[in-house]
Amino acid sequence: MRLMRTKLLLALAVVTLPALIGAQAPAVPAITLLKPARVFDGDTMHEGWAVRVRGERIDAVGPEASVSAAGAKVIDLPGSTLTPGLVEGHSHILLHAYSETSWTDQVSKEGLALRVARATNHLRATLQAGFTTVRDLGTEGAQYADVELRDAVRQGIIPGPRILASTKAIVATGSYQPKFIAEWNVPQGAEEADGVDSLTRVVRDQIGRGADWIKMYADYRWGPMPGSRPTFSIEELKLAVETAKSAGVPVAVHSNTAEGMRRATLAGVETIEHGGEGTPDVFKLMAEHHVALCPTITAGAGPWPPANPNSPAQLRKKESFKAALDAGVTIINGSDVGTFPHGDNARELEAMVAYGMPPAAAVKSATSVAARVLHMENQIGSVKQGRFADLAAFDGDPTKDISALRKVKFVMKNGVIYKQ
Ligand SMILES: [Zn+2]
Repeated sequence: MRLMRTKLLLALAVVTLPALIGAQAPAVPAITLLKPARVFDGDTMHEGWAVRVRGERIDAVGPEASVSAAGAKVIDLPGSTLTPGLVEGHSHILLHAYSETSWTDQVSKEGLALRVARATNHLRATLQAGFTTVRDLGTEGAQYADVELRDAVRQGIIPGPRILASTKAIVATGSYQPKFIAEWNVPQGAEEADGVDSLTRVVRDQIGRGADWIKMYADYRWGPMPGSRPTFSIEELKLAVETAKSAGVPVAVHSNTAEGMRRATLAGVETIEHGGEGTPDVFKLMAEHHVALCPTITAGAGPWPPANPNSPAQLRKKESFKAALDAGVTIINGSDVGTFPHGDNARELEAMVAYGMPPAAAVKSATSVAARVLHMENQIGSVKQGRFADLAAFDGDPTKDISALRKVKFVMKNGVIYKQ
């Protein structure tokens, strides 16, 4: 009897523990019926559709009359467009705006706990802006904190988007920052590795510590010449890709130079970040090899729209983005947020539209297309029965006027309402 009672108490503890954790998040109604003016399902717009959510998943989608409201809490979202929760393809949740503190000062003077404390605010702001998934591409000196922030969100300890973590990122020895006097060996903002032995070990080590993606730098501003220069050889990149692939982990590569992009593409990486000096030839190669571009048009400390839209740097970025569009390269929305304030992620979508992408294509690059690039198309990125209930509603229609993404009316992640 006593034994049975202990067992019963244990069973009760198991049942109530998730409920206690959940108590810190907003309440989860068992069934919710969302009635926006229209639903963008990730591919097509549907006027007069409704969406029913049961628990953490989308339960039914279709014309309002066809979706039963029985037992549901009804939420009217008049005038709004309901979309899949947006995806930020390139964030740094452990950085804050460079206009506040330079990268070097953040990495060398701000401690881990302080940076994590800030990151919790960044995650909340991201979610409130309608972004329910982020791929975080490097902690920039904050060790493996992205992995535990990911887990803290999963466990309901703090509000935030789903996080795909990449831990420290990998750079070729000598190519990264910070640099002080040559005699000082200071910790770098990413992990150095080269050649067969250390690259294999570091890729495996980062995966072992929780990386969902491996991030590498195929070029950087180093050496005696101005501008970026390639770092890893094609053989090194191939080795890293093969090593990561063996664990089912994809590789994302920072690259601005055409040569770095070429090497990364031929090495089998899945996304190229920035691509600022991409040529029509290299974008054609990317399209042929199904390598996606994460353009980060608005990366940096400056405001958007830029003070001088006709500066040489802006014109160059505009030209390379157009070349990528013309070549038919898959585009995943990603802004490099963290260099500018978290929560302002929508500026990248505005920039892509300003630089020639149709608004509906921009919204897809942050929903269905992004989900596919991230290998999450069966979980997120579309408003479809069985997908996780990651949803956002915006006043107006962002597939016609992208600025509607600034008017966030409603945010749900995993069936939990975070903004209404
Ligand atoms: Zn970045």
